[in-house]
Amino acid sequence: MELKDLYRDVILDHNRQPRNFGKLDPSDARAEGHNPLCGDRLSLTLKLNGDRIEDVRFEGKGCAISTASASLMTEAIKGRDRASAGRLFDAVHTLLTQPDAGAATSPDLGKLAALSGVREFPMRVKCATLCWHTLNAALEHQPAPVSTE
Ligand code: ZN
Repeated sequence: MELKDLYRDVILDHNRQPRNFGKLDPSDARAEGHNPLCGDRLSLTLKLNGDRIEDVRFEGKGCAISTASASLMTEAIKGRDRASAGRLFDAVHTLLTQPDAGAATSPDLGKLAALSGVREFPMRVKCATLCWHTLNAALEHQPAPVSTE
């Protein structure tokens, strides 16, 4: 099986069966995100313990890339502190935007590496990063919904 096929399967699987889908109530932080370019909408709720993300849920409606990306993100950030989640976002951003990031792929990415195919479709990069911008807003207790535009 080619790596490309494997990555596609990961995306399809996470779109069909999103992990951590739903809402934490009560929650310690929350944020809404919107990608007007594609119509993706996302809402994140977090349970925090000091600087650590204890639990996270997302809900919303979006394309397969935005849903799979949010699902992969929630799995990847659980248990991380803010700085560590920030470093992971940097690695994801590099993966999505640098055409030759393949060789430089951070081992920290784990399953998030499945998003690498998105860089062939620049229009969809915002679908994949929406959840991360929404996470930043939640961690910064930013009350207004975030938009990728
Ligand atoms: Zn989208």
